[in-house]
Amino acid sequence: MTPAQDFTPSENVAQLKESATIAVSQRAKALRAAGKEIIDLGAGEPDFDTPNFIRMAAKRALDAGATRYTAVDGILPLRQAIADEANRRWKGGDKVGPSEVVVSTGSKQSLFNACFTLFGRGDDVLIPTPAWTSYLEMVALARATPIPVMGDAARGLKVSAAALEAAATPRTKGIMINSPSNPTGSVYGADELRAILTLAHQRGWWVLSDEIYLRIAYGAHATSSLDVAPSRERLIVVNGVAKAYAMTGWRIGWTISTPKVAAAMTALQSHTTSNATTVSQHAALAALSMREDADAAVASMVAQFEKRRDAALAILKAEPRIHVLSPEGAFYLYLRAPGAGRGSDAGGVFARELLEKSGVAIVPGSAFGTPDWVRVSYAAEQGQVEEAMRRLVKTFRDLA
Ligand code: PMP
Repeated sequence: MTPAQDFTPSENVAQLKESATIAVSQRAKALRAAGKEIIDLGAGEPDFDTPNFIRMAAKRALDAGATRYTAVDGILPLRQAIADEANRRWKGGDKVGPSEVVVSTGSKQSLFNACFTLFGRGDDVLIPTPAWTSYLEMVALARATPIPVMGDAARGLKVSAAALEAAATPRTKGIMINSPSNPTGSVYGADELRAILTLAHQRGWWVLSDEIYLRIAYGAHATSSLDVAPSRERLIVVNGVAKAYAMTGWRIGWTISTPKVAAAMTALQSHTTSNATTVSQHAALAALSMREDADAAVASMVAQFEKRRDAALAILKAEPRIHVLSPEGAFYLYLRAPGAGRGSDAGGVFARELLEKSGVAIVPGSAFGTPDWVRVSYAAEQGQVEEAMRRLVKTFRDLA
């Protein structure tokens, strides 16, 4: 027996599930390697290059010697820029200070730091569902119990404060919300978000507000928890540069919390990864502080996402049996698979058929706790998105 066959994972990770998102993209890659032409609408990342002014700032920082460790929680100018941005929204007397900001290796690490620091054995954490695949795993890694709370299909699969209240138990310790949402593209309105934050405040729940898609919203601006929260006492806002500035590979995210929570998360990070990559912090600083350039770049990318969304929806809506949400943010379409409601993995069957027969990669809704649905990313060139939607409609009709 080789040592690899001997391996039994520790209790820490034994329950981890493989990410369904990654499983699809691996199969798509394998088909591509075998010579098949694949349109990949599975990935959760902008197809744009990082704007030039950000790349230039990173080059300048490298030449100026930004190659060493920084403070574990990040360089002060970046934490200050993040605090400044937060204070343009937060109107409470307790202004956000740089000591309440912790910069991490992507918002994924920020979310993990927060879950691991706040939740533990015996705690329940409410997760509006469908939800991004990693929330459940992070809560479980912290040995707390994720409690999915199903969204209302008539309201873009969003949850209401009343639904959260009904799902709560005396063990409820917190809630993870995400608006604009991956995978649905739904955006909570100011009143909806205020109602949830007010309930959480009354109940003493921690709120993890994942705002990574905040700047990718169509029509009205998306509401941040900092716009409507009654208090910041138990609010952790998570954000990063990956989606808004097409900077997925730079790996910079952050939390905005309180001095004590920030100190605890910094202590955790000091024993795991230390500071996020130094040159990436300087790139993120440019994205946040060179605001005119940044606003122009974001506006241009959002306008292109919006065009693709509209083009994709127009093709899907020509088939009246397709029930697709009308997304107001992020860059995903969420739709019900043919055969939904029969208690099987309809989304998985649909995604497999579409990939194997028509060469289009999408993600089964089981990855997000809703197996009747599938997620389509339209962060790809518009002609490809349109062609993929035509193939999707055909496959839908074949299976319906
Ligand atoms: N939250 C959500 C809802 C996401 O979709 C993603 C990326 N797929 C992340 C967090 C993680 O982003 P980052 O690259 O900043 O780690």
